[in-house]
Amino acid sequence: MQRDTLVFDLIRKELERQRHGIELIASENFTSLQVMQAMGNVMTNKYAEGYPGRRYYGGCEIVDQTEQLAIDRLKQIFDIAYANVQPHSGAQANAAVALAILQPGDNILGLDLSMGGHLTHGSAVNYSGKLYNPHFYGVKREDGLVDYEMLEAKAREIKPKLIICGASAYSRDWDYARIRKVADEVGALVMADIAHPAGLIAKKILKDPFDHCHIVTSTTHKTLRGPRGGIIMMRKDFENPFGLTDNKGNIRMMSNLLDLAVFPGIQGGPLEHVIAAKAIAFGEILSDEYTQYAQQIVKNAQAMSKAFTDKGYEIVSGGTDNHLMLIDLRNKNISGKKAEQVLVQADITANKNMVPYDDKSAFVTSGIRFGVAAITTRGMKEEHMQFVVNAIDNVLMNADDAALIAKVKAEVNSFMGQFELYPEMG
Ligand code: PLP
Repeated sequence: MQRDTLVFDLIRKELERQRHGIELIASENFTSLQVMQAMGNVMTNKYAEGYPGRRYYGGCEIVDQTEQLAIDRLKQIFDIAYANVQPHSGAQANAAVALAILQPGDNILGLDLSMGGHLTHGSAVNYSGKLYNPHFYGVKREDGLVDYEMLEAKAREIKPKLIICGASAYSRDWDYARIRKVADEVGALVMADIAHPAGLIAKKILKDPFDHCHIVTSTTHKTLRGPRGGIIMMRKDFENPFGLTDNKGNIRMMSNLLDLAVFPGIQGGPLEHVIAAKAIAFGEILSDEYTQYAQQIVKNAQAMSKAFTDKGYEIVSGGTDNHLMLIDLRNKNISGKKAEQVLVQADITANKNMVPYDDKSAFVTSGIRFGVAAITTRGMKEEHMQFVVNAIDNVLMNADDAALIAKVKAEVNSFMGQFELYPEMG
C-alpha cells in the first residue's frame, strides 16, 4: 500500500509546531518516546473485551499481561487496592462512575463549570447534566477559593447521591476530609476527579484524596504524562455502603460495579496499545526522575505566578499550589479570546477560560489559563519563567502590533531551540 504522505506530512508539521512553540495549555504534556512508540504497536489489532483472565476473545494471554502490569503499577503509584485502566478518556472514566452508581434523575453536586469545574461534573450540555439532576457549588468572590460552606449547605439541601470534587481550572488544593464529612452526613458518595493534579498527588506534593473519596478518576495525559486516556481507582470502600446493584438487582462490590460500568456499560474493546503505553508511563512515574519532574512543576508554577503578579496580573486565588494558574485579564483590558488568538501568533499556546463571576460569555471570557507541565518536560526551570512571562506580557500589551508580535515569535522560536523535543525523530 502506498504511504499516505499527505497525513504523514501533517504529522511532521505538528512535530515542528510543538518543537518551536511554548506550550502552556494546562492539560497538555509531552510523553516520552517509549510511551509514544507503544501507542503505535500491534496491540491495536487485538480485540480483548473483558478484563485480564476473563475475556470474551481468544488470544488475549499477552495483552492480559500488559493490562495487568498497568493495573499493578497504578496500584503501586497511589497505594490503592482497585484500578481500572480501560477508560478511553477522562470523560469516559467519569461516565462509567456515574453509570455505576446513579440512576437517571438522581441529584449530583459538582463545581460549577464557570468556576473551574469540568463538563462531566454536571454541565447542561453534557450527559452528566442531561441524565442526572445537577447542582453546583462555587468559589468565593472575595478570594477565589472553593466555598465549602456553600458545598455543605447545598449538600444538606438537595441530598445528592454523588458529590464531585476536582476541577479543570482551579490552582489550589482540596479539603477532601471536609467534603467526605458532609457526604457521610447526607448519604452521598464522593468522587474526586484528579485529572489535572494527579502527578503531584502521586508524589505526595498535594493532599491524598484516596482516604476520603470513595472513588477517584483521572486522565493519564496531563501531569501524569502518559498517553491520552482515563483511569478509575479506589483505595478502599469496596463494601458498597448504599447497597448499589447491578442490572439483575444483585448487590455487588463497588469494584465489580465500576468494572461492569466501563465494560460492557459504556465501552466495547479496550485500546490495548494505549494500555501498554499507560503501563510504560506508570513505570516512569515510579522513577526518581519523575519525582524530580513533579517537584520542578511546582517550582516553575510558583516562579511563573510570581512573575505575573510582579507585572500586575491578577491570579485567581492569588497564586497556585499546583501546575496551573488562572489569570483574570480584566485589569489588562484584553479578553481571554483575544489573548489566546494573539499569543498563538507568537507561537505561545494557552486557552481562554472563564474566571469566577465572569461577565463575558464562555466564547469570549475574561481569563486565560496557563500550566507548566509541558514546558517542565521540555526542561525549563525557574530561571526560564521570566522569559516566558515577558514574552506573554509583551504580546498582550501590544496585541494589535503585528510587527512586535512577529519579533516575539522569532525570540520564542530561538529560545525553544535550547529545549530538545524528540531528537530521535530527526
Ligand atoms: N476531568 C477533568 C477535571 C478535566 O480537566 C478533563 C479534561 O480536560 C476531563 C475530566 C476529561 O478528560 P478527556 O478530555 O480525556 O475526556
